[in-house]
Amino acid sequence: ILSLIVVCFAISFVALYSLYRQKKLSEVTNEFVNNMTHEFKTPISTISLACEALSDPTLHNDANIREAYISIIRDENDRLKNMVNNILQIAQLKKGQVKMNIEMLDMHDLVHKVVDSVALQISSAKGSLNLALNADEHELFGDKSHLQNVIINLVENGIKYSQGAPEILINTQSNGKYFLLSVTDKGIGIPKKALPSIFENFYRVPKGNVHDVKGYGLGLGYVKKIISLHKGKIEVQSEEGKGSTFIIYLPLKK
Ligand code: ADP
Repeated sequence: ILSLIVVCFAISFVALYSLYRQKKLSEVTNEFVNNMTHEFKTPISTISLACEALSDPTLHNDANIREAYISIIRDENDRLKNMVNNILQIAQLKKGQVKMNIEMLDMHDLVHKVVDSVALQISSAKGSLNLALNADEHELFGDKSHLQNVIINLVENGIKYSQGAPEILINTQSNGKYFLLSVTDKGIGIPKKALPSIFENFYRVPKGNVHDVKGYGLGLGYVKKIISLHKGKIEVQSEEGKGSTFIIYLPLKK
């Protein structure tokens, strides 16, 4: 009888747990769909407004205005393209089909490329991005474009979750075995109890109903996956209201 009770108890526990997982998954997917539709809506409606304006016959003679609208359409279309690419990339990552193109690379070169690509975002937010490239050894085997995406993701999070003008610092070090790169911001920080979840796909630190900062909760999942495919690791230190530091460790060439 006792074993029967134990078995029944175990079965109901498993059933309850799987119900809980399903509920959590559906909540998470709902939120993802909401965020995504919201993010798609803006560029789509901007494009259709610009098209409407362009079809106004009184505008046909003004080349400047026409060019301005066309460049809006081009930018918004690029944004849509990036969003679709991101989602496809994540879907591929989930299926474990990530294509890696491993070659010898210089991490400091990658950092400089990242600096160029976020320069506009930093300056339009009136922020600053400082470098302390202290690693003596900065060459390793890895995938250039994925590692560049990783650094971009971390820096863009630093910008997105800043309070006021973003102040970002990228620091590198090497210790013979590993190349370390950290991205530090003085932003909103992450509550202690959320820290274990931030690398899960679709997870975003709850902000009530307002998500003034856009995102799908996929960036850090991607970062973690890519770092582990390089046999590295990632750590985070954060204090709410003070800021965060994300540190990646990548094995050096040997
Ligand atoms: P998202 O697209 O939401 O930015 P991420 O996977 O990149 O997705 O990050 C997951 C969550 O972790 C974010 O929604 C945010 O709540 C939190 N987070 C990530 N980076 C930072 C940071 N630098 N400062 C504060 N919170 C952060």
